[in-house]
Amino acid sequence: MTNTNPSPPDLAAALRARIAAEGPISVADYMAAANAHYYATRDPFGAAGDFVTAPEISQMFGELIGLWLADMWQRAGRPADARYVELGPGRGTLAADALRAMRGAGLTPPIELVETSPMLRDAQQAALPAARWHDDAGSLPGNAPLLIVANEFFDALPARQWLRDGDGWHELVVEMAGDGFRRVPGPLLREGTAGLLPSQEHRDGGIVELSEVSTAIAGGLAGRLARQGGVALIVDYGHARHGQGDTLQAVSRHEFADPWTAPGEQDLTVHVDFEALGDAARGEGVRVFGPVGQGAFLRAMGIDLRAASLAKASPGRTEEIVAARERLTAADQMGRLFKVMALVAPRWPVPEGFQG
Ligand code: SAH
Repeated sequence: MTNTNPSPPDLAAALRARIAAEGPISVADYMAAANAHYYATRDPFGAAGDFVTAPEISQMFGELIGLWLADMWQRAGRPADARYVELGPGRGTLAADALRAMRGAGLTPPIELVETSPMLRDAQQAALPAARWHDDAGSLPGNAPLLIVANEFFDALPARQWLRDGDGWHELVVEMAGDGFRRVPGPLLREGTAGLLPSQEHRDGGIVELSEVSTAIAGGLAGRLARQGGVALIVDYGHARHGQGDTLQAVSRHEFADPWTAPGEQDLTVHVDFEALGDAARGEGVRVFGPVGQGAFLRAMGIDLRAASLAKASPGRTEEIVAARERLTAADQMGRLFKVMALVAPRWPVPEGFQG
């Protein structure tokens, strides 16, 4: 995992020195260094920042996730020692909304947050004073059922990329180009190495992408769920199947940007490969549900009723509440590209929201 030390102020200069000394670095190493610096040095969320996430759009998002967790917990027999766990909690907004909804159902679990950014930990502490923090999922409690949430966490984790040309497979690597950086094919992989590549449907000339960090984390969480009980809800933008090619993107001030300039100053993401996460989790003995579209999941969890009751309580805010519901659920907004997948421990119940 990335370290929690403040990164050097000029990441581009540090990366240039590293490439001068070591040679070109993998796309994953570039992405890891860029995002560690990016999240350590700012709160990127909201209109004044770089991007807006679902929990920052409306309280309904976190509340419905809280109700989903509470329902699973209730039907699992209300285990008294269950913990709330969130990976990459941002400002802590989702957790605060989910925990408020869970309290209504009699569920008040201890809060365990996995977060590497010191600056975002401060924001989370203000929202969730009783929480405990972890540098990575490895130090989460090992003897209690876990109610795990990860929203827009996996997309920020580093991915490697490979390209097949006429000669064979190459890993894509990052080198210096003038004042900036560029991505180029590295040396031809030795015969046999290509067998280690993700078994995806390779389109000619296509790029294959895999986040090994992501599949390792999904597998690790699934192993805990299989041993300790519990569930994980993973929400992110991405695809249900492998083989979507190059999905690396940079976002700054709500616009797409060039990933190869200003590393550490803009958000780098890849689309989440839900098939890879699901396979890693299934291999550890949990059941996998979905992914389904975020819109379908939120509608199944009752977002229409929740929006109506919020609007009834504050009629002056009706327009804003309806707009937020649309943004979270409409197919041409966050309803389809964003997907929801559940990992469920053996003997835990079949989750709501994944039928059909
Ligand atoms: N879930 C929040 C924030 C999403 S942004 C929301 O929906 O608003 C990604 C979050 O993951 C940030 O909190 C970021 O600091 C954290 N993060 C990124 N890489 C991480 C890593 N390797 N380990 C732990 N947290 C990480």
